[in-house]
Amino acid sequence: MSSQIITPAQAKSLREMINRASRIAVTCHMTPDGDAMGSSLCLAHVLSAMGKAVTVVVPDCPPQNLMFLPGAGQIVVASCRPERAQCVFRNSDLIFVLDYNDLKRIDRMAPMVEQSGGKRVVIDHHLNPVIESDLMVSRPDVSSTCALVYLVLEAMGLTVMMGTEAAECCCTGMMTDTGNFSYNSNDPELYRILADLVSKGVDKDAIYNKLFNTNRESRVRLMGYGQSRKMQLIPEHQAALITLSRDELNEFGYHRGDTEALVNVPLSIPGVTYSVFLREDEPGYVKVSMRSKGDFSVKDICERHFGGGGHCNAAGGEMYAPLDDVVAKVIGIMPEYDAQLPTANQKMKETE
Ligand code: 5GP
Ligand code: MN
Repeated sequence: MSSQIITPAQAKSLREMINRASRIAVTCHMTPDGDAMGSSLCLAHVLSAMGKAVTVVVPDCPPQNLMFLPGAGQIVVASCRPERAQCVFRNSDLIFVLDYNDLKRIDRMAPMVEQSGGKRVVIDHHLNPVIESDLMVSRPDVSSTCALVYLVLEAMGLTVMMGTEAAECCCTGMMTDTGNFSYNSNDPELYRILADLVSKGVDKDAIYNKLFNTNRESRVRLMGYGQSRKMQLIPEHQAALITLSRDELNEFGYHRGDTEALVNVPLSIPGVTYSVFLREDEPGYVKVSMRSKGDFSVKDICERHFGGGGHCNAAGGEMYAPLDDVVAKVIGIMPEYDAQLPTANQKMKETE
């Protein structure tokens, strides 16, 4: 990440865009996660500290466990208040696109953003962005959009405008997109940023407790059930599969967010190179989540077969079909990807 995030000329031009804007909208992707919410709210706090009228608009409801973020209560949820969202975009002269690379990721909010006359700035860390913009900061090598937002603010000399609340939001996304600094987290720059955020008053341990150590009863039980009863290992493809049907979700009193990170668990088993989690969110609609280790790309699988995308080691998609059909499809395509699996020799090297 040591190379500069934006050139001095880009920093100047972004600063001017911000100075000229009177109303600013900040957006992130649907089913917002800690990085989407954290980066949006962090930037919104800084822009409001600069005296700007700023509104964060998200496509659908954030999960309850992120509502502790300062400012989360003021977010406009487009699926609940479409007219309000429409009005925000119509009146915005600058729109920030944070943590997504394709307008498909904001669902029904896409036409609102497309039709807005406002300038558009993308700050994102997903591969191959396809969004037209006046400024594009696309850095797949940076582990979170929150870290990117910090670096962009820094390039503009604006980190002095980050108070404790903005810093808390920034820290949240850096933690969630690295599993509390357990992957994609070897860049020393991250710790320089983190040190600054903590010096701005962030209680990192308290945020950790809220993010990773606070669970509903339904989540604790469902995670246990998913692991003990529903995990299937498929050694010939170095794969693991967990499925949860609508009936099972109902039985456990499922709330959104309850299965967060379930897909990661099988990867802790030596010999499992990729893990697939299928959740039947509605009858006939299945959300697909995948995780992998090393060079094995689940992004390619999700793009090609499940209308999705993401990162090499963490990706997702969806399929409109009964759960059994999606399971059959997943198992059916596994042989296609066998050639990309690490050989026994490579795996030995990894564990050395
Ligand atoms: P998760 O498995 O936690 O839902 O998603 C992991 C990552 O995959 C997300 O950070 C996001 O980048 C990507 N992702 C998840 N679902 C979708 C999807 O439906 N479409 C696309 N393009 N990316 C997705
Ligand atoms: Mn992210």
